[in-house]
Amino acid sequence: MTWQLTADQLRIQAEARALAKEVIGPRAAAVDEAEQYPWENVEALQHAGFTGMTVPAEFGGPGRSFLDAVLVVEEMAKACGVTGRIAVECNMGAISAVMAYGTAAQKAMAAELVLGGDKPAICITEPDAGSAASKMTTRADRRGNTYVLNGKKHWITGGTVSKLHLIFARVFDEQGAEEGIGGFLAVRDETPGLSFGSREPTMGLRAIPEMEVIFEDMVIADDMVLLPPSGFRRGFADLMSAYNSQRVGAGTVGLGIAAGAYELALDFAKERHQFERPIAEFQGLQWMLADMSVKLEAARSLTYRAAESHGPNDSPFPDPAMAAQAKIFTAEAAIEVVSDALQVFGAAGYSRRNPLERMYRDVRMFTIGGGTAQILRTVVASRILDMRLPQERGGFLPKPTD
Ligand SMILES: Cc1cc2nc3c(=O)[nH]c(=O)nc-3n(C[C@H](O)[C@H](O)[C@H](O)COP(=O)(O)OP(=O)(O)OC[C@H]3O[C@@H](n4cnc5c(N)ncnc54)[C@H](O)[C@@H]3O)c2cc1C
Repeated sequence: MTWQLTADQLRIQAEARALAKEVIGPRAAAVDEAEQYPWENVEALQHAGFTGMTVPAEFGGPGRSFLDAVLVVEEMAKACGVTGRIAVECNMGAISAVMAYGTAAQKAMAAELVLGGDKPAICITEPDAGSAASKMTTRADRRGNTYVLNGKKHWITGGTVSKLHLIFARVFDEQGAEEGIGGFLAVRDETPGLSFGSREPTMGLRAIPEMEVIFEDMVIADDMVLLPPSGFRRGFADLMSAYNSQRVGAGTVGLGIAAGAYELALDFAKERHQFERPIAEFQGLQWMLADMSVKLEAARSLTYRAAESHGPNDSPFPDPAMAAQAKIFTAEAAIEVVSDALQVFGAAGYSRRNPLERMYRDVRMFTIGGGTAQILRTVVASRILDMRLPQERGGFLPKPTD
């Protein structure tokens, strides 16, 4: 079954496709080479109305759905993986958490930032707490009407370029008793105690800095605490629920990169001649191209379905198990599709003159960042087995009734 997009969604998709083809794509190689955040692409996204798409009208946004944003992300990622990732974080992730859990003032502040092109950063991962994220040691100690944060995160996408940072930290009351995990909002350059360490030299997606983020006696007033609905006790689960929108978005970037690689391979197979024939006439390649198209259609269906889903108890975020299924399949299929596309090009695919070299590096990330393919399988397993697998023991998904 082909996914039925509305006329409005087809229009957004066509606009995004045109922007990606005419503006974003031609810059992609230079952006990768320079390893510098592509502010000019951010401006193009913002100008086209592709940032803050999911911000509701009362906060100045167009109030579009996750699926609308997914369509834009997919088109951007076909042309440039980095711009696809920026489109994710301007529309999903931290902004979703603030729009669901924030106070009116927090929502207004975050909306203004993303509508202005900011790509908020989410600070969860620590050197000793990767998959075991709830083992984080960054702490927020209650002092009067404030919290004082100390600790260090790493692999934070956009650390030095994002203004808004959503920081996950372990919360302690005045007496030092632990209360759970909370979200804290900090704005770069306006929050003393927030600083950045070293930048990770990454394999792909090189134009977005992956940063160490350091908190040294960083004071966060109550009005910048993002309090999840059930307080700090279940704060981690609530904040991770919000993260499911970003997860769907991350899978979409993989999907877009793979779809872009497939289109290149299709054209090349028709143009390149060997043995006096287009190589597309050889069944060995026809079957490869057919398999690539099957994987892409399956990945697209899972991704769109997850974007349209709701979690348990009518959550405003995508269903965790569907988001996990989509990201596992899409990320793994995307790596295979890009690798096969490169194979279709022969030696030309192995040249750095060819965009596939960049796409091959870029696409490799999506089985890792935003929850590894292994950890996401524990999310799916806990749903299909109807078992609660606590995060501390390597699982993720609480039962809807917990
Ligand atoms: C490009 C990039 C961008 C990122 N951006 C961000 C960001 O913006 N914010 C942020 O907070 N984090 C970010 N991350 C971090 C990312 O979320 C973590 O890398 C990820 O959660 C895995 O943690 P780890 O790398 O420490 O691996 P580890 O947790 O050390 O895992 C190592 C290996 O063990 C496997 N493993 C671990 N536990 C289990 C288990 N229970 N069962 C089976 N297998 C297991 C993993 O799947 C993996 O293969 C980013 C990472 C990358 C690569």
